[in-house]
Amino acid sequence: MYKTIEDINKGYKKKDFKPSELVSEYLSEIKLKDQKLNSYTEVFEDLVFSHAQNLDKEIDSDNSILDSNILFGIPIALKDIFLVKDLICTSGSKMLENYVSNYDSKVYESLKITSCLLLGKNNMDEFAMGSSTETSYHGPTLNPWDLNRVPGGSSGGSASAVAAGLACASIGTDTGGSIRQPASFCGIVGLKPSYGRVSRFGMIAFSSSLDQAGPLCRTVKDSAILLDSISGYDSKDSTCLNLPPTNCYTELCKNDFNLKDFTIGIPSKLLDIGLDREIKTNFDSLIKELISNGVKVVDIELPNAKYSVATYYIIAPCEASSNLSRFDGVRYGHSTDYKNVKDLEEFYIKNRSEGFGDEVKRRIMLGNYALSSGYYDAYYLKANKVKEMIVSDFNSAFNNVDCILSPTCPELPFNLGEKKNDPLKMYLSDILTIPANLAQLPSISIPLSLSKNNLPIGLQITGKKLDENTLLKVANGLENLIGFSATPKG
Ligand code: GLN
Repeated sequence: MYKTIEDINKGYKKKDFKPSELVSEYLSEIKLKDQKLNSYTEVFEDLVFSHAQNLDKEIDSDNSILDSNILFGIPIALKDIFLVKDLICTSGSKMLENYVSNYDSKVYESLKITSCLLLGKNNMDEFAMGSSTETSYHGPTLNPWDLNRVPGGSSGGSASAVAAGLACASIGTDTGGSIRQPASFCGIVGLKPSYGRVSRFGMIAFSSSLDQAGPLCRTVKDSAILLDSISGYDSKDSTCLNLPPTNCYTELCKNDFNLKDFTIGIPSKLLDIGLDREIKTNFDSLIKELISNGVKVVDIELPNAKYSVATYYIIAPCEASSNLSRFDGVRYGHSTDYKNVKDLEEFYIKNRSEGFGDEVKRRIMLGNYALSSGYYDAYYLKANKVKEMIVSDFNSAFNNVDCILSPTCPELPFNLGEKKNDPLKMYLSDILTIPANLAQLPSISIPLSLSKNNLPIGLQITGKKLDENTLLKVANGLENLIGFSATPKG
C-alpha cells in the first residue's frame, strides 16, 4: 500500500477506511511479501490490531482529533535500534537476541503520544554498522525493486518496508548515511536532521557524536510531519539541543516559496570521484533543468570533504569500541554457557566472540587500536581536527548558498554479496553522505529517477545547521519538479 501520511489522514476523515481496516491490510501485505524481503525483525500483529480497534472507537466518538493530530492512526515501524518498553530490541545482533527493553526511547515516547500505530521493528545492519543490511544477525533484507540487490544500510529494513508498502513510514538512524543511502537505494525519502535535533535517549549507541534519528517515508511533507513530532529538547540526552520541536510541516503547507528564491551549490570537484555514469547523466540533466527554469546554481568548493571517509572510519570505530564495551554478557548481552569456561576472562571473551558478528569485531579492533596509548593523538585527535576543517569548509560554502545538491550515492543498488567480503569497497559507498554527519548538518535524500534497469537513483540535498525549514522547502520544490511516482513491482 503506497499511501502517504496525508493520504491516510484524509481517508480517515472521509471515512473511506478505519484504522483497524487499514492495519489489517498492512498486516496481510507484510504476510505476503515479507517472507522474501525480510524487512521486519518482528511484527506486533495482535498488539497493533487491538490498538487500531481502540482508535476506531475514538474516531467514532469524536473525529476532530484527525484535524489536530495528523499522525493519529498512522501505521509506522521503527528500526530495531529504538527501545520500546517490554519488547525485544536486538540492534540486529545475536548479542541482544533476548534483550527486553525496560523503558521507551524518547523517539518512541514522542510518537506514542500521537497515537500512531506501531506495526513492528525493522531489520538493520548489526549495531548500525554497514551499508547493505547484510551484517544483520536476522539475515539480509532484500531490495523490493530487485530481489537480487541490497536495500542499502544500515536502515535497510526500514527503507525496504516503506518502499514495498509494508509501512507508511519508519524511523531509522544515520551515523554516516544510514537513512539517506537506503532511502536512495529504495526510491523513497530519507531525512537526517541536524545533530542534536532529536534525542538519542533509548537509541542503542553506535557513534555518539554522529548518530541521529530521522524518518524514512514517501514524501518530503511526510518527513516534515515526523520530524516535527520526534524533535525537541530532552533532558535525558546531554547532546540534545535546548530547542523547541521543529515546525517544518506548517511552513511547507504555507506554500509561499519557490525554488527560484534559493541559491543552490554544487560541489563539482567532490563529484569527480567516478560516479556511476547513469547517476551522473541524470544528476547533470536535473541541474540543466534547474538552470533553464531560472534557479540560481553555483559551483562550491569543499576542499577537505575528500578526507571524510578516512576521518569517519577513525571517529566512528573509536566511539563504537567504547560504546560496545558494555556488552560483556554480564551487564548486557549474550552469555555463553558458564560450565564451558575456566575463568572470568574466558567468559567475557566467549560472550563477545559468540555475540558479535565479523563487521562489529572489525570495528571494535580498529577503534581500540586507534584509541590505544601513543596512537590517540595520531588518529582520534587528528581525525577530529580534520572534522573541524570539514565544518569550516561547509561554513564558507553556506555564505553563498542555501543548500548543496549532489547524488546521494556514487553507485546504483549493488548485488547481494557483491561487497560483503570487501569492507573498503563497502565503506566507499558512503562517500557523499558522511560529510553531513561530520559537519552535523541536516540532509535529505529524495528519489531522482530510475536507471535503465529500473533501479532508483537518489538526490541528496544538504542544508545549513538547524535550518531544516529551508532544506525541506528546497526538497519539496525539487520533489514537485521531479515528479517521481514509480513504485517497485515486487
Ligand atoms: N555505512 C556506514 C557505516 O557502516 C554508516 C552507518 C550508519 O550511518 N549507521 O558505518
